[in-house]
Amino acid sequence: MAKVLVVLYPDPLDGYPPTYARDSIPVITGYPGGQTVPSPAAIDFTPGQLLGSVSGELGLRKFLDDGGNELVVTSDKDGPDSVFERELPTADVVISQPFWPAYLDAARIEKAKNLRLVITAGIGSDHVDLDAAMRHDITVAEVTYSNSISVAEHAVMLILDLVRNFVPAHEWVTSRRGWNIADAVSRSYDLEGMDVGVIAAGRIGVAVMRRLKPFDVHLFYTDKRRLPEATETELGLTFVPSVAELVTRVDVLSIHAPLTHETFHLFDSALLGTMRRGSYIVNTARAEILERDAVVEALETGQLAGYAGDVWYPQPPEADHPWRTMPNNAMTPHISGTSLSAQARYSAGVREILEDYFDHKPIRPEYLIVDSGALAGTGEASYSTDGTGSPGSSGQ
Ligand code: NDP
Repeated sequence: MAKVLVVLYPDPLDGYPPTYARDSIPVITGYPGGQTVPSPAAIDFTPGQLLGSVSGELGLRKFLDDGGNELVVTSDKDGPDSVFERELPTADVVISQPFWPAYLDAARIEKAKNLRLVITAGIGSDHVDLDAAMRHDITVAEVTYSNSISVAEHAVMLILDLVRNFVPAHEWVTSRRGWNIADAVSRSYDLEGMDVGVIAAGRIGVAVMRRLKPFDVHLFYTDKRRLPEATETELGLTFVPSVAELVTRVDVLSIHAPLTHETFHLFDSALLGTMRRGSYIVNTARAEILERDAVVEALETGQLAGYAGDVWYPQPPEADHPWRTMPNNAMTPHISGTSLSAQARYSAGVREILEDYFDHKPIRPEYLIVDSGALAGTGEASYSTDGTGSPGSSGQ
């Protein structure tokens, strides 16, 4: 019997379950590149249900109860008196989502004497101190690809939101009850013909560029590794060898790199100052890739025309976090990777990982971040820059 401690975001204010807008979601059978979608032996939820909040329990209740395991689900995750902190010392498995991360720093990992497996229901395990996980021989796994397309769609939406000035225009007709066309269009442009750059051409970055191609933009990208020539030709991509050069060559920048020691606070005032005046940045990767106050300042001076994203630090951010109120922002809570469609996939992926773990079968390499005291699988590819892992979303 295992104790499985699951940290999920709170239920909707109007109660659980919500009234669903649609009756079903499309069935996705595979991902670009050939990776297969999660394939657990069974699922105990209906795809399209809200699974990522506390009452949704990632659809795991029946499976874990039937196996004689203990399931503890909470949204109370921060501070020494939180339910998470109290339950952690006796937990064998911890599961949380990047949208409402259970921060597992070295001190918490030290207290978690029974902990063997940490699962990210989604993608991005930088809320876990991977170095500490390696030292304590804890396996870290995530559901690679489960929400990559969800995020890519969101990033494209945010690019259009900023360039077209959607949010203020919407506010003119809703909360302000106006019809102020001149006010609404005074910051509105066409995306067509613009220079658009992508940092990190991984699963999400490539999906973003693929979706942007029909907008007739000029696409630039940088990555540690160049894409195959066939992909560059197909999508009309220009490779730029460094972030420093890329940012000077584009009007719109979309960030899709993982948070590592190398990308932590990569964007400071100096780098932002080298961009074209009136550039837009969309960041659906991780907040700490940029210095918080440098972004605010660049928006206030007009160096940036807009900033949009769904990633913050910490999560949830404090009520007076400046990104809530900085000018020309199109921020949302961390939602891009937790659409109801994505939840169905990553909940199935978590179930698959747990089935393998309980059956002492190997977890798919593409889901592994840390295993047997070292970076493994996808973790080896994504976090290998300095051989240590991520800064654990807590600064350096
Ligand atoms: P991938 O691992 O597929 O791609 C990441 C890419 O980043 C790789 O090509 C990698 O290159 C490259 N890279 C790493 N470091 C650098 C660097 N310093 N400069 C330039 N490129 C770099 O990841 P995904 O596309 O699936 O996801 C990207 C990130 O998006 C995740 O790490 C996560 O933080 C975030 N995310 C956000 C979500 C949300 O809900 N907002 C949901 C899912 C993910 P190489 O392989 O050579 O190391």
